[in-house]
Amino acid sequence: MEKRLIETSLELVRDDVLVGLQDLGAAGLASSASEMASRGPVGVKLDLAKVPLREDDMEAFEIMISESQERMLACVEPSRLAEVQALCARWELECSVIGEVVEGDHLICTMGDTVVGDIPVAALVDDCPRYTLDPQRPARLDTEPVDVASLPAMGDASKLLEQLLALPNIASKAAIFQQYDQIVGGGTVIRPGADAGVIRLPGSKRAVAAALDGSGRRTWLDPRRGGRQAVAEAARNVACTGGRPLAITNCLNFGNPEKGETPYMFVESVEGMAEACEALQAPVVSGNVSLYNEHSGGPIPPSPIVGCVGLIEDAGKSIGAAPRNGASIVLLGDAAPAVDGSEYQAELLGGVAGRIPDIDLAAEARLIDVLVEAAAAGISHAAHDAAEGGIAVAAAEMAIAGKVGIGIELPPLAERDDITLFGEAGNGHVLVATDDADALLALAAKHDVPALLVGTAGGDAIRVAVGPTVAELPLAAAVASWSATMPALIGAA
Ligand SMILES: [Mg+2]
Repeated sequence: MEKRLIETSLELVRDDVLVGLQDLGAAGLASSASEMASRGPVGVKLDLAKVPLREDDMEAFEIMISESQERMLACVEPSRLAEVQALCARWELECSVIGEVVEGDHLICTMGDTVVGDIPVAALVDDCPRYTLDPQRPARLDTEPVDVASLPAMGDASKLLEQLLALPNIASKAAIFQQYDQIVGGGTVIRPGADAGVIRLPGSKRAVAAALDGSGRRTWLDPRRGGRQAVAEAARNVACTGGRPLAITNCLNFGNPEKGETPYMFVESVEGMAEACEALQAPVVSGNVSLYNEHSGGPIPPSPIVGCVGLIEDAGKSIGAAPRNGASIVLLGDAAPAVDGSEYQAELLGGVAGRIPDIDLAAEARLIDVLVEAAAAGISHAAHDAAEGGIAVAAAEMAIAGKVGIGIELPPLAERDDITLFGEAGNGHVLVATDDADALLALAAKHDVPALLVGTAGGDAIRVAVGPTVAELPLAAAVASWSATMPALIGAA
């Protein structure tokens, strides 16, 4: 139904037979009809008896506010109605004339001949009541970063790597995304599973890259930093495939904004996202807000989820996360990973605590420049950033993607070697595979981005070392840990 609706809408717009077209999202006809009227500005009169319903016995107000995504509201000149109806019939899509544009500035609803509602459009669109938020900073946020000296002794690094790869936030999601057709329309350049998906634009050399990111856990520890990082990570993931970030969309999932810490978390994370969007020159072009998400009497973790879309001028230059055998591996970025808010802390060290590190957005913008230029120049052939599980997990994921071993040696970036391996920083770390390390290092230097040749791809083991500490796994063992979790979870469900 959704597909037929999209195709019909595209043809209606292409053939220019409409005055206006509006989707029906939250608050159904009430919002779409009033928004359409407001843009006129005109009055709109709807006969609710003519609205197709899924249930009998719906009251007028229910018809007005009920939501169903598979609908569009079109405004059509009466002389062109037959064309619209013919097009809908061709796509086997039901369509109904439910009202008309009228003089004035009211939204009027009837049920047959009886008026059941009459309200100024402005009352629904511009003059609607607004929340007065009371953003109080929770004392919890004044927490200091975790004192590394207080952490339990470091476990066996190889065992930790194997455990991390099996955690649901890190493990392969193939069992989920393989349920969907990833090559619909034939334009897929990079399939799901890399940092971003890449789709060719029809009739063009160009392609778009798209990625979704966000961490409720990190945003809970610091909403402004979490908001900044959600945007930066989505943009970085797009850049890893060679895409120049163009714009973002978001879905802001929060608890009840009228109470507790939620208004503060909301305002701060939105401000953080705005700062990152400005620094990365990526405007917010759309979005969605989902509030009042509560469970067990409390709000969900504040979860701004960011989608970033970026442009790749030449689809043939887009890159995935799979290094070639013999490639040099260069680490871009030298930020200090922290245990605070990391997957390692949450799952293996007893729970989320502390304060996530901040992010230098100007440095992030330079990192993106290097990634985009390296891919476009053919200097890099794979790139993958560290996220949950840190640099060691990123290295393992690259090896798994490339079906080739990887051996890297990291400088100490944190107070303890396990935190260098598995901790998570504010700024990005990206592992880039190249056949010309000198060219990549020179490009990074030109953009003032820290870069270090840390190892090579080859063999059949994953080996990530920091000084005397080594996380080492046969590639097959890593694949086994990483692959088993989602099928087991889905099976159990
Ligand atoms: Mg990534």
